[in-house]
Amino acid sequence: MISERMKPLVQNNSAIRTMFEEGNRLAKIYGRENVYDFSLGNPNVPAPEQVNQAVKDVVDQEESTFIHGYMSNSGYEDVREAIAGSLNKRFGTSFHQGNILMTVGAASGMNIILKTLLNPGDQVLTFAPYFLEYGNYVRNYDGELRVVPPNTADFQPDVEAFESMITEKTKAVIINTPNNPTGVVYSDETLRRIAAVLEKKQAEYGTMIALISDEPYRELAYDGVEVPYVTRYYGNTVVCYSYSKSLSLPGERIGYLVIPDEMEDQKTVFTAATIANRVLGCVNAPSLMQRVVMRCLDAQVNLEAYNRNRELLYNSLIGYGFECIKPQGAFYLFMKSPTADEKEFCDTCKKYNILVVPGTSFACSGYVRIAYCVSYEQIERSLPAFRRVAQEYGLI
Ligand code: PLP
Repeated sequence: MISERMKPLVQNNSAIRTMFEEGNRLAKIYGRENVYDFSLGNPNVPAPEQVNQAVKDVVDQEESTFIHGYMSNSGYEDVREAIAGSLNKRFGTSFHQGNILMTVGAASGMNIILKTLLNPGDQVLTFAPYFLEYGNYVRNYDGELRVVPPNTADFQPDVEAFESMITEKTKAVIINTPNNPTGVVYSDETLRRIAAVLEKKQAEYGTMIALISDEPYRELAYDGVEVPYVTRYYGNTVVCYSYSKSLSLPGERIGYLVIPDEMEDQKTVFTAATIANRVLGCVNAPSLMQRVVMRCLDAQVNLEAYNRNRELLYNSLIGYGFECIKPQGAFYLFMKSPTADEKEFCDTCKKYNILVVPGTSFACSGYVRIAYCVSYEQIERSLPAFRRVAQEYGLI
């Protein structure tokens, strides 16, 4: 009954379900508190109180037809204007409501912009390791995702390899910073080099190449690390933002696209993206949540909670002899597997009730992703188990 296109997705889904079921199985045997599940990127830090208050205020204070009604497919004008103003204040940009398109989270933002831009057979480049859904999103529009191999020295993109992979069919490039799964923030220099390559290749082929910056983790950066604003580097940039992690609202499905004036053919791209939002079936981003985020433009989740987790986990793992670069952002740590076959390593971890995701799930074998968006206590409880894993591999 189901389409050929869906068959591999169904098969892959059973792998994710197996991991989930494994967690439940172990919890039944050993008790939930003795299973150390680091597999999911679901924020454990609650949404700021300001968000809950804003929900109440919107419901109490705004007119109900207004709160729950349809609006322009691109979102409420006042919300978009407020977001543009907030970005301008923070990043010195000059956006206005005509640059902001409200979306059903980053996943829908990515789908909207890819549907807007891709013709069948167009190529999209991204850098390993990457969020594997990109492949599905690109295939939705009959595009082809090509992956630049990882630079495991520091996980900044390999710009030379990138340059060599651009062809006249390259329509878009997806970057993700702060990065899932490495926690790396792309540096000013990296972005300058990517922008320079794109300008050069556009001129060489006479094409337009969009740089799609997927930014659900923008606000999660530690030690005062600055996350550069990508539209300032390259005109044909589209920013794909989400409140899923920045305000811990993944279930509420709210985010936006920024399509700057500098983008070639901006008005047509914006109109097409608005129509894509409609015909993909989202119609518009959730009305109540648009009104809520407008009241929470300066709100922040408790970043210190993630930072404490990061410090404890990173310092402990390094102390046990594991290798990993210190994440600068997001809430993931990408650790080198002590054996080349990281799936075997994941199985060893499982023996000690530790659940982590193999790097092959991000097109980067030999590593595992540890999501530290869990309680501090879970990390504390897991440390003796990590220590025993390190002992098993002779690291200590
Ligand atoms: N992009 C990346 C890199 C992610 O890690 C995620 C979610 O984990 C998404 C996009 C999707 O985010 P959203 O919940 O806003 O759709």
